[in-house]
Amino acid sequence: MIEVKELQKSFGSLEVLKKVSFSVSPGEAVAVIGPSGSGKSTMLRSLVHLEEITGGSIVIQGKPLVENGKYAGASDIRTITASMGMVFQHFNLFPHLTVRGNLELAPRTLKREKVAAIEAKSRDLLAKVGLADKADVYPSMLSGGQKQRVAIARALMLNPDILLFDEPTSALDPELTGEVLRVIRQLADEQMTMIIVTHEMNFARDVADRIIFMDKGEIAESGTPEQIFGSPRLERTRLFLNQG
Ligand code: ATP
Ligand code: MG
Repeated sequence: MIEVKELQKSFGSLEVLKKVSFSVSPGEAVAVIGPSGSGKSTMLRSLVHLEEITGGSIVIQGKPLVENGKYAGASDIRTITASMGMVFQHFNLFPHLTVRGNLELAPRTLKREKVAAIEAKSRDLLAKVGLADKADVYPSMLSGGQKQRVAIARALMLNPDILLFDEPTSALDPELTGEVLRVIRQLADEQMTMIIVTHEMNFARDVADRIIFMDKGEIAESGTPEQIFGSPRLERTRLFLNQG
């Protein structure tokens, strides 16, 4: 469960998020669409404290990360952000570690689970994303689609309650997007709570329970895929959807 109230974020005098409010229920997959510069990445990064917001509240699984602009203590921030996994456009894999090493680094560092359990989990998750045979290779040996599937498996290693995706297929050649989208769809079918920022309109329509259309730092419109794609309320939503 994610609850965002009147989230404000400015970079200097540039107001990037203007009192953005929304919530995401457990098991829900929400797709965020909107023009470049509308604040989609900033909104996502704020949820995991990669950006410090300037006002408003973010509550994750009932725990306030920030309330009326005031952040929780450092240890609470760590606990709360640890309940979320994030997958970036550019994979952000560690090049000096094997695929398995990438998956196991965070859990081994945290030492919350036995090494054998961590190894078993990385094997299972690599199989889940169709990369069981790539455990011992380095990221440089992989295609973009394979790298992104490794990044998704890595995000799952810490058993997140919520997964956040920022344009997971934007850096991929078109023929490689399908394999990544299939993995995300499978997670949606398993009722993983997700926010997916994407330019893939067909995918958003297909996989999301709800669509949020962001424009100029605001949620201009949100609704079911049928509503947003079938009969958008606003002219600017229509214009955005028609230009692609
Ligand atoms: P895109 O679709 O191109 O990824 P976006 O919707 O994700 O766009 P953001 O990356 O959130 O947009 O950026 C929103 C606005 O904030 C843009 O005007 C951007 O230039 C500005 N911005 C983002 N990060 C910073 C930063 N670190 N410093 C200053 N301005 C920033
Ligand atoms: Mg972005």
